[in-house]
Amino acid sequence: MGDDHLKIYRAEILHFLDDPAIAGEAESYQYFSDGVLVVKNGRVEAVGPSHELLPNLPAELEVVHYRDCLILPGFIDCHVHYPQTEIVAAYGAQLLDWLENYTFPTEREFSDPNKARRVAELFLDELLRNGTTTALAIATVHETSVDAYFTAARTRRMRMICGKVLMDRNAPDYLLDTPETGYRESKALIERWHGKGRLSYAVTPRFAPTCSDEQLTRAGQLLREHPDVYLHTHLAENLDEVKWVKELFPMCSGYLDVYDHFGLLGRHSIFAHCIHLNAAEFALLHKTGSGIAFCPTSNLFLGSGLFNLTRAENKKVNVGFGTDTGAGTSFSLLQTINEAYKTQQLRGHPLSALKSLYLATLGGARTLDLDGVIGNFEPGKEADFVVLDYRSTPILALRLERCNRLADKLFVLAILGDDRAVKATYVLGKEAYRRGN
Ligand SMILES: [Zn+2]
Repeated sequence: MGDDHLKIYRAEILHFLDDPAIAGEAESYQYFSDGVLVVKNGRVEAVGPSHELLPNLPAELEVVHYRDCLILPGFIDCHVHYPQTEIVAAYGAQLLDWLENYTFPTEREFSDPNKARRVAELFLDELLRNGTTTALAIATVHETSVDAYFTAARTRRMRMICGKVLMDRNAPDYLLDTPETGYRESKALIERWHGKGRLSYAVTPRFAPTCSDEQLTRAGQLLREHPDVYLHTHLAENLDEVKWVKELFPMCSGYLDVYDHFGLLGRHSIFAHCIHLNAAEFALLHKTGSGIAFCPTSNLFLGSGLFNLTRAENKKVNVGFGTDTGAGTSFSLLQTINEAYKTQQLRGHPLSALKSLYLATLGGARTLDLDGVIGNFEPGKEADFVVLDYRSTPILALRLERCNRLADKLFVLAILGDDRAVKATYVLGKEAYRRGN
């Protein structure tokens, strides 16, 4: 008596139940060296050791056995710009020049719906190729750029958050909206997309320097009128930017205070970077339940600085990883872990493999307040997962021969792994990507 909707996957399985920094590493995860993940109608039915689960499952059901592979929950990218896909690896600039020279001219092209559709589709396929199943993404100032993104995400059944950029000053005329049009277009997009299937909307002021007081006031109004939408913006990425914000908002005590002043902090507010913040600002992020997207490849590439993860941990602020492509240099959360490790080495705090894989999965889900539906394999959650291949490159296979402890094995996989390590990606229990042979 088989159940048509039951699917069984067998491999090494790892998922997190809590933050290793809070629960202690040993208590924070479940690991099954020969595990089984049972999926029913796109949701997790059970997870556990194969010798316990397999005897109780209908014998005629096919078991998809991934040998020498590790199944993890789908990766979560908490900050990324889909329209910047084409400007990855643009040479020589720091944040403010980079925006002017590379970003703005490219984003202009997204007024064309065909262009937006083409890049949105390519971008989402690239995420799947890297094992990422959920992202908090920024579109452009154009309403059509968000429509294109959500349409492509809906086709792929991915859980996605996106929003139109609000920007009414300090950018080229061709990319500016106004407080009123920004408000109206965001509202129309919220009504069209927010809460539809797996899609959610984020009110998205680009960052304080490109938004007038009036526009930030309108952003706050949108959050009050739609309390469960997200707020997504940049914060304290670059020292020149921080200085500029002080000049533009002399009435505020600091950068975070600008956003606080306009009512933009809260449980659904995610701030990218947060490199140049003081202890009181971390405390305010914690108090308001706001989250941070830690974007190491971007922070190194633009020379922005080294995020203080230890301080975020001590202040109990929710943190997830962001790739921040195009300023980030890789769509891979594994490569993001690699660079995160190096930034924390320079701060004198080596980042453990368990903590970093937590940040790439359940930590990201918590930051986005989505841990009730994704982020680990608790029964009932949406079955988004990635299959990582321990033998995907000769060096990885060779290096792993010397690893006996789980922590070592995971560390080597995270540091040496990239898109080549992704054997398959599943969305709601269905294969959405498989590496070609
Ligand atoms: Zn960004």
